[in-house]
Amino acid sequence: MTKSLWITAARDSSGAAIDIEIAGGRIAAILPTGGKIADEKPHLDAAGRLVLPALVEAHCHFDKTLWGQPWRPNSAGPTLRDYIDNERRILRGLDVPIAARAGKLIEHCIARGSLHFRCHVDVDPEFGVSHVEAMLALRETYRDIITMEFVAFPQTGMLIRPGTLAVMEAALKLGVEHVGGLDPCGIDNDPVRHLEAIFDLAGKYGRGIDIHLHDKGELGLWQIERIADFTEARGMAGRVVISHAYCLGEARPARLERIARALADNGIGIMTTAPADGPAPPVADLRAAGVTVCMGSDGIRDAWSPLGTGDMLERALFLCLRFDWARDEDLAAAFDCVSAAGARILGLRNYGLAVGAPANLLVLPAENVGDAIARRPQERTVISHGVVIARDGRFLS
Ligand SMILES: [Zn+2]
Repeated sequence: MTKSLWITAARDSSGAAIDIEIAGGRIAAILPTGGKIADEKPHLDAAGRLVLPALVEAHCHFDKTLWGQPWRPNSAGPTLRDYIDNERRILRGLDVPIAARAGKLIEHCIARGSLHFRCHVDVDPEFGVSHVEAMLALRETYRDIITMEFVAFPQTGMLIRPGTLAVMEAALKLGVEHVGGLDPCGIDNDPVRHLEAIFDLAGKYGRGIDIHLHDKGELGLWQIERIADFTEARGMAGRVVISHAYCLGEARPARLERIARALADNGIGIMTTAPADGPAPPVADLRAAGVTVCMGSDGIRDAWSPLGTGDMLERALFLCLRFDWARDEDLAAAFDCVSAAGARILGLRNYGLAVGAPANLLVLPAENVGDAIARRPQERTVISHGVVIARDGRFLS
């Protein structure tokens, strides 16, 4: 497989016409279109299409997906607990392995332009680390073309499910990169013990933390302040993410300013799906305060919802719709959340359309980033380390 390529007559996000030389899987040169091109390498004529860095999916649950399965009407009851129990019932009754479901979805996401993933993987005393083992094997399958890091996620609760912490620790020993958490108050009913447990585990194994926090109002805000306290006290700056954090959308301005400062000072990232209803983290305010905000799909066609496509350009559109963003700078900020900001959260080195960076690129027929988000054309060519791995929106197996 050649990792050398010329991409000619492309357009970068500023509108400049460029040729890109790729050698050994990395971007070797970015030149104005029209210069002399060495003939010995294969050429990809971009014909004026836009070239972007590959997209970053910073929060997904591939192990739980029903992708590729027949349509399943959502049958969950109204509470979070109902959803968790409903999912357990459905996953127990499935005879299609994780590798088949998640593998199809990964290929679909790749074809939509994502090459970097943070995937939360369920751990539970009932099925142990079996989901982790399946996802680790799948990561090996795609190791040459994507990066994928894992979070050990106690979906059914941690302290309220005796044995869960031991399974999370087993997952870390297998190579999972991050310790998960789940509503220290709302699910586990003991926030300080919950935070002590996950920060202890992260400290013991030198791993990061990514906490699902759905708790709203004062309860949620109080927990974010405690997470910041723990992050500072344990020297975990830059290694903690709070996913969802809906309550930030309910904070009064002075409180939000204080919390945003604590998040920025401790390098705590925020992940949002830009939910259509209810409170959501105020992305513009957080970014202005220096907080890194990334985006994820969360569940994609699973027992929680049949919705979701894994298209991170669509996710950026949701962000624009959520906050009524329409100006070019807003659309650029939305794109940043599904690209460079996500890359910072994932700790990707050398990310972007720059000389020396791995040639992980998305080429699509759009005028600029705003147009790409607005129309989300499906005719996408995806290049991983200089190799075309998807064309016209289809994964090349
Ligand atoms: Zn999630």
